[in-house]
Amino acid sequence: MVDDLYQEIILDHSKHPRNCHPMEDATRKAEGYNPLCGDKLKLFIKVEDDIVKDVSFVGSGCAISTASASLMTESLKGKTRDEALKLLERFHDLLTTDSPVSHELGKLVVFCGVRDYPARVKCATLAWHTLKSALNGAAEPVSTE
Ligand code: ZN
Repeated sequence: MVDDLYQEIILDHSKHPRNCHPMEDATRKAEGYNPLCGDKLKLFIKVEDDIVKDVSFVGSGCAISTASASLMTESLKGKTRDEALKLLERFHDLLTTDSPVSHELGKLVVFCGVRDYPARVKCATLAWHTLKSALNGAAEPVSTE
């Protein structure tokens, strides 16, 4: 039952991604690429006083990567840089370990089922790897390889 609901949320975000547009006044940008699946995305972030004021993305990829980017942008607004990086760790744990689900994840728990599909983990984490490089100011495009 819960799985169906999670599935529905992922589908909804993949068909109608939130914050899916370029950002003119972004203070940080980064590009990510997942060669395993062909997912590509460009992330725009506006950071002011160490707080993520706005996040958006454009890209083309599978349903999981698009939904993950969409839900990520919703989760990040108002967070500090450190909080954003901590959330990344929690999300990565959710997908790669059997650790108990952290309540900090909020809606992001919908991706817990991806754990059973290792090939999909890179799709789900692409946006987050790209986020890390944007926050750390890396200039090179990110690859999940
Ligand atoms: Zn993918």
